[in-house]
Amino acid sequence: MNYEEHFKEQLDALKEEGNYRVFADIERRMGAFPTAQNHGNGPRDVTVWCSNDYLGMGQHPDVLNAMHEALERCGAGAGGTRNISGTNHYHVLLERELADLHNKESALLFTSGYVSNWAALGTLASRIPGCTVVSDELNHASMIEGIRHSRAQKLIFRHNDPKDLEEKLKTLDPDAPKLVAFESVYSMDGDIAPIAEFCDVAERYNAMTYLDEVHAVGLYGPRGGGIAEREGLMDRLTVIEGTLGKAFGVLGGYIAASSALCDYIRSFASGFIFTTALPPAVAAGALASIKHLKVSDQERARQRRQVGLVRDKLRSIGIPTMENPSHIVPVMVGDPVKCKMISDWLMEQHGIYVQPINYPTVPKGTERLRITPSPVHSDHDIDRLVGALSEIWSRCELARMAA
Ligand SMILES: *Cc1c(COP(=O)(O)O)cnc(C)c1O
Repeated sequence: MNYEEHFKEQLDALKEEGNYRVFADIERRMGAFPTAQNHGNGPRDVTVWCSNDYLGMGQHPDVLNAMHEALERCGAGAGGTRNISGTNHYHVLLERELADLHNKESALLFTSGYVSNWAALGTLASRIPGCTVVSDELNHASMIEGIRHSRAQKLIFRHNDPKDLEEKLKTLDPDAPKLVAFESVYSMDGDIAPIAEFCDVAERYNAMTYLDEVHAVGLYGPRGGGIAEREGLMDRLTVIEGTLGKAFGVLGGYIAASSALCDYIRSFASGFIFTTALPPAVAAGALASIKHLKVSDQERARQRRQVGLVRDKLRSIGIPTMENPSHIVPVMVGDPVKCKMISDWLMEQHGIYVQPINYPTVPKGTERLRITPSPVHSDHDIDRLVGALSEIWSRCELARMAA
């Protein structure tokens, strides 16, 4: 086989479909975010509109001070796996903080949210004899990969549909172990799961529940505990999984659950055991971020305001957005080539950075610009975004909706 030829052919096919990913080469500017320095085509300074640093915590003084202090105290890396010298006191404090955030007995840290889903779901589903995983059809790749890796039986239920979940659970042996896996906020459409109804169904069939709150932690609930906190449901979920890399602005993933369950994952999950622990400074930064967002609602309140403003202004000029009850504003384009072109023009002509979202991240025909307004976007930033989209919509003769 000509290996190089194979690589090129596959990449050319992606490019032809318009689904080849091009990374924007940017430098986030601390203290000035959402401004970033652009190292690619277009103006030098750009406004970032597609970050998952949803609240700007990546530049919060509490977070930076904590990271500087930990760096000075402990140095750069953790120096080992959690088991072999890598458990730093900051990890212990962070796990306690996370358990408290979700009102669970215990929490367990991973190097990312992806790894936490992959390792926790993979371990539960493979080590519990005869376990069947019942999984929402739109679950994130990290959950799907974890379930696949477990080789456990898997049933897929229709997205956010408790009736279909029940149909699937009904077909299973009442005495067999079951795990229902779903997310709270789905990141591409911004819709929110009916968590209480899922818990009702799962409890009727004695199934465990596993909730990915990656796009909700820090953002919803009085202390930033997520949708389950907001709805008073945290105690009904077997496992709550989250990230420290999105609203908390740093890096890392975790699960919060009973002491026995966390100890089980700690003791059996390869993806937890055989990898270097997070740098102490990263754990310290995440800890400061969680502590801040537990007591401060200011960032969440201003985020809601800016999200509302973006939605209202886009609606008033007929730019088609997908309605949803969350902080995510999908602007629908419906064509991969146009989506990429609009994104390029925004960057090159307006200094506005919104990454195009194409297949396979979203279904073909639903290509979109996924906009994430934050408390650090000014009203002026919003006016510039809306003006630029309006200009491009007219130039491309794209359809508008009735205002
Ligand atoms: C981003 C994401 C993850 C992975 O989290 P990271 O910390 O970025 O690895 C998990 N689940 C969902 C739904 C996500 O969108």
